[in-house]
Amino acid sequence: MKAFVNVNPRDLHHAATLLQQAHRDGRTAALAGGGSDVLGMMKDRLITPDLLVNLKAVKGLDQVAAGNSRSDTVTIGGLITLDALSRDATVRRMYPVLAEAAGSVATPQIRNVATLAGNVCQRPWCWYYRNGFTCFKNGGTTCYSASGENQFHAIFGGGPSYIVHPSDTAPALVALDARFRIAGPDGERTVPAAEFFTLPKENVARENVLKEDEVLAAVILPPAGRSVRSTYHKIMDREAWTHAVVSAAIVLDMDRDVCRRARVVLGGVAPIPWRLPEVEGMLAGRTITPALAAQAGEGAVAGARPLAKNAYKIPLTRAMVRRTLLALANA
Ligand SMILES: Cc1cc2nc3c(=O)[nH]c(=O)nc-3n(C[C@H](O)[C@H](O)[C@H](O)COP(=O)(O)OP(=O)(O)OC[C@H]3O[C@@H](n4cnc5c(N)ncnc54)[C@H](O)[C@@H]3O)c2cc1C
Repeated sequence: MKAFVNVNPRDLHHAATLLQQAHRDGRTAALAGGGSDVLGMMKDRLITPDLLVNLKAVKGLDQVAAGNSRSDTVTIGGLITLDALSRDATVRRMYPVLAEAAGSVATPQIRNVATLAGNVCQRPWCWYYRNGFTCFKNGGTTCYSASGENQFHAIFGGGPSYIVHPSDTAPALVALDARFRIAGPDGERTVPAAEFFTLPKENVARENVLKEDEVLAAVILPPAGRSVRSTYHKIMDREAWTHAVVSAAIVLDMDRDVCRRARVVLGGVAPIPWRLPEVEGMLAGRTITPALAAQAGEGAVAGARPLAKNAYKIPLTRAMVRRTLLALANA
């Protein structure tokens, strides 16, 4: 590992200012939340920062702050661990999709240290990128997966890079219509979760709208009425320790057995959490029967563009959407 300076900022404004100063001085800098990924990337020399801005010592951003009623928003600090998030009583009651997504990540050891912000901002796990190939994500001008080993790559939204977004919590946050609070050296801004993640065709080197001196501070969840149900289902290529091959985060606002409004977001299939507005429109105002769920499954894969070795994700996605919808509608 290259020698680096570790700094523990006192708050997020301080963290953002340190990042800004480093860039102005021509030094490279990286942020660490739980450090479960970024330190490995440094050991592997995928990144070689001069300065590590370590958020561990920042206080007060590891909590779920809920109001007194269900009509209040809920704010979750970006430094909460995935384990704490998955066990939080408010999150489990009001936003099960997020608790289930957090609880599905990796292993208990990783969930004990990994933060929500770090999970959302983790870099891709494409094997070409992680093995140091000079692909788009490593500053090169090629995506090796396009014609190479692309079993786990994108079937939607790919090109020129075909990575899939690796975070389990990200599809849940998009499905919940969360907003992200971002801290920078000049103050804070808020971005809808659906606009936070960016496709490779917008910026092939990055996965989100964060600037190099910005920090993800918190997520704000809209009130969850009693009629709202949600869940997260995930298919992996083995039982544990790994990312989604396909996942679905579904939120339904129900009036008895009629779906008033639906949000359906896929994970593991696109460079961003992949929302399905046509499927959502198909479900609104209707009773979710096995026939409608099957139609939604078909609709989910209508725009898929598989690569040579990942067409198997199409039947998985179709079945995932159908089954998850039926399970949630009948819960
Ligand atoms: C074996 C294994 C299995 C895994 N399986 C899964 C899985 O099933 N699902 C899944 O979702 N993930 C999985 N992961 C990834 C893991 O969840 C992430 O490593 C973890 O969530 C990162 O959180 P962290 O707080 O440790 O982030 P860090 O390692 O500290 O940082 C990760 C990235 O986010 C950036 N970052 C951190 N905090 C902030 C912030 N506040 N604002 C802006 N940027 C920030 C860092 O600069 C870095 O680029 C797996 C990892 C391993 C090693």
